[in-house]
Amino acid sequence: MSSSWRNVPIPASVARLPRNSAGRPVPANVAWHEPDDDGSILVDRDPELGGHVACPCTPGRGTPRFGEQCPVRQRQFMLQRQCGLCTETIAPSAQLAFVGEINAQYYLEPPLHQVCAAYALQVCPVLHAAGDHIEVALTASYTLAEDRITGVAADGALRRSVFPLGSPAAYHLAVLEFYLAFPDTPERHAAPTWLALYAPK
Ligand SMILES: [Zn+2]
Ligand SMILES: [Zn+2]
Repeated sequence: MSSSWRNVPIPASVARLPRNSAGRPVPANVAWHEPDDDGSILVDRDPELGGHVACPCTPGRGTPRFGEQCPVRQRQFMLQRQCGLCTETIAPSAQLAFVGEINAQYYLEPPLHQVCAAYALQVCPVLHAAGDHIEVALTASYTLAEDRITGVAADGALRRSVFPLGSPAAYHLAVLEFYLAFPDTPERHAAPTWLALYAPK
């Protein structure tokens, strides 16, 4: 599959994304690193979010870090119902797709248009290799929670907790990094099964 990803029809909104050095479109939620970025976590504070992780990255500038999400864009896409691949808003009437582990109760990756999910499942080497260990959950709507950093353990690992959206306690105690999306009454399909129905060869 990795040799044939160029043959998969690319949605117009995905074709506009910046590419990596191999020419592959980089999903909009992926973090980019510039050479002067030392990798430290930047924490900001404002009246709306309380403490939160900031990120200065710009898509197309520097090097994409696949597997690492930009916390700023992740939060924007989750809140605004924007597609994590192509950035476009997902219509309120549309069934959207979350891609993740089997029976996942929540998702850390933003929702996708179904056409974008089908494209990602065909061209992303990680998703493709996962086969039927990956599931597509279709839903009209989802509920958000907050994934916040509550402290740092002695070994440097971050301690995290999940809080309800807008929790006043979380606002004062912990640093918001990501939103978690809990799908409302999802319809779940093994990824290859769904793909065969949605985008038959
Ligand atoms: Zn960023
Ligand atoms: Zn999309």
